[in-house]
Amino acid sequence: MKHWTRIGITLAALGTCTPGWPDTNPIAAPAPQDVATGVWMVPGGIPRNRQPDGNSVIFDAPAGLIVVDTGRHAWQRDAILALAHAQKKEIVAIVNTHWHLDHVSGNPGLRAAYPSLRVYASDAIVGALTGFFPTSVKESAGYLDDPQIPQETRDDIRGDLLTIQHGAALKPDQVISGSGTMTLGGRPLRLNLARDAATAGDVWLYDEQSRVAVLGDLVTLPAPFLDTACPEGWKVALQQVAAMPFEVAIPGHGGPMTRAQFLLYQAAFEAFIACSNSVRPPDECATAWVDSIRPLLADDPPEQQRAREMAGYYVGLLRANGGRSRFCEAVR
Ligand SMILES: [Zn+2]
Repeated sequence: MKHWTRIGITLAALGTCTPGWPDTNPIAAPAPQDVATGVWMVPGGIPRNRQPDGNSVIFDAPAGLIVVDTGRHAWQRDAILALAHAQKKEIVAIVNTHWHLDHVSGNPGLRAAYPSLRVYASDAIVGALTGFFPTSVKESAGYLDDPQIPQETRDDIRGDLLTIQHGAALKPDQVISGSGTMTLGGRPLRLNLARDAATAGDVWLYDEQSRVAVLGDLVTLPAPFLDTACPEGWKVALQQVAAMPFEVAIPGHGGPMTRAQFLLYQAAFEAFIACSNSVRPPDECATAWVDSIRPLLADDPPEQQRAREMAGYYVGLLRANGGRSRFCEAVR
């Protein structure tokens, strides 16, 4: 099945008409959730017929707010701005965990509101600007006028094309080229660079003060989003996360996790990649995935069905390219 190369999720993986999706039109700005003192999460989501938004995490700092990931849609950005207004604080920094459009599209809008903020990210977007994005533009063009694709989905594709057209505006002011503690707005945070994982350069954070880790798409529910993945590097990144003494881990998609829940996810991920690398039927790998992460999934059959469909889809995606996504450029 042909799919439009997502920047979030493939339409093929999601299915555009899966029954049981919550009908969330019109879409209101999501309400921030308290994670710890001075740490909030603006939850992302995957509304019916829409491309996803990743979670955004906001840290309070002496000089203002630090925003980790800015979502795709206006409602996600609006929720972040509303939080800044409510806190009577300026946004002084954005950290992007990776360049997928469900995590960076809000950057220009937040910068327009706070022109002196600085954006921190890996340099992986440079490769995406000449590789993944142009490929995505070419592959999605045919969907814009396809009446079988829901109108809202086509709106999202149009929005993404516009974002890509102005892709240079998504680049960081300061490149994160290694792991270490950085002080942003007066708050020290450990920024970790994981090479060749969910993308060519993923950044994840650990905040010693709150013991909160922000993982971006190294952890996602209902399935790992493997579209640009190098699975071997990804496993190493999860091992490095496990070595950090966090108490709460915030995934790129899905609710905050305890350490035990993260470890369950990590084990399920390793087993899923091992199954993908075997000759077992994709259905078997998908069923094993759902069974192993069942405690983390909402207790509703449509969510489990989505997890199964996505997992099965990604087995095919990895097998089509020798066990990694076609965008993985790690040296074997
Ligand atoms: Zn994402």
